Amino acid sequence: MKRPKVPGVCIFCGRRPVTAEHLWPQWIGRLLPRQVPEAPVHAQNQFQRRALPQGGEFSSFHNRHARGPVRARKIRKVCGPHCNGGWMSRIEDRAAGVLTPLIQGQGVLLGRDDLRLIANWAVLTSIIGEYSDPNSAAIPPADRDALMLAWTQAGGIDADVMQTLTSGWIVEVGAREAAVNWNPTYAHVAATWVPRGEPVAGAKLNTQTTTLSVGHFVVRAASSKYELVLPRDRHAAGLVQIWPNTPDGLQWPAGPILSAESTEWIGNILRRSPVGMP
Ligand SMILES: [Zn+2]
Repeated sequence: MKRPKVPGVCIFCGRRPVTAEHLWPQWIGRLLPRQVPEAPVHAQNQFQRRALPQGGEFSSFHNRHARGPVRARKIRKVCGPHCNGGWMSRIEDRAAGVLTPLIQGQGVLLGRDDLRLIANWAVLTSIIGEYSDPNSAAIPPADRDALMLAWTQAGGIDADVMQTLTSGWIVEVGAREAAVNWNPTYAHVAATWVPRGEPVAGAKLNTQTTTLSVGHFVVRAASSKYELVLPRDRHAAGLVQIWPNTPDGLQWPAGPILSAESTEWIGNILRRSPVGMP
């Protein structure tokens, strides 16, 4: 479905008016201590083209890294009753129950449905997050449609939502060390990935990673028009993949605890390491 880019129209369903949606939902704000006098960080960079060792190239490279004020940031791109107060709040309400112990650093056994719900939440938050800077949006509209349809018409988490998304997604979670500050961090890198032999001219952003850190919890949701292979370097050792190949269960925390350095590193992986294409 193609919709005109008219301001004030819901990016999911096309309804109006839109309301202010928090990137970080209110329930997360209530979990965090209030001593967060950190300077706002908001960086945007654009990178030159670079060739990939396996052929093709990255171009039109955007990076956003935001801290601090993201908790208060609102994005006016979603309608009230149908989306924000409807199917999205059903995701948020369920996610709040699953994510609260992870954010607070408690040990817990996560079931398969919990992991699928976390993946859904990460995709939703990635989509909303991109609209804090629409120029960097690399997730296709078809994925917005698929997420909404799954939650409005097909039974939500029971609908195998992730299967219906058109992009190749990789969602990974990790536990991070006690935060020096408790600001949620949002890191987004978007890129145009042009495989060998395909025309570069006119190619659009088609690959992105969104990394959300809040309390002791980190999730990285990567998507691409092409099949992504993200490097498993030492920084990524603390990440556990929950999509695709969702485990049946996961004892939390699941891997080595992520340091602050590793958390920062994995959020910027598209800038730092060549991604792979099979
Ligand atoms: Zn809507």
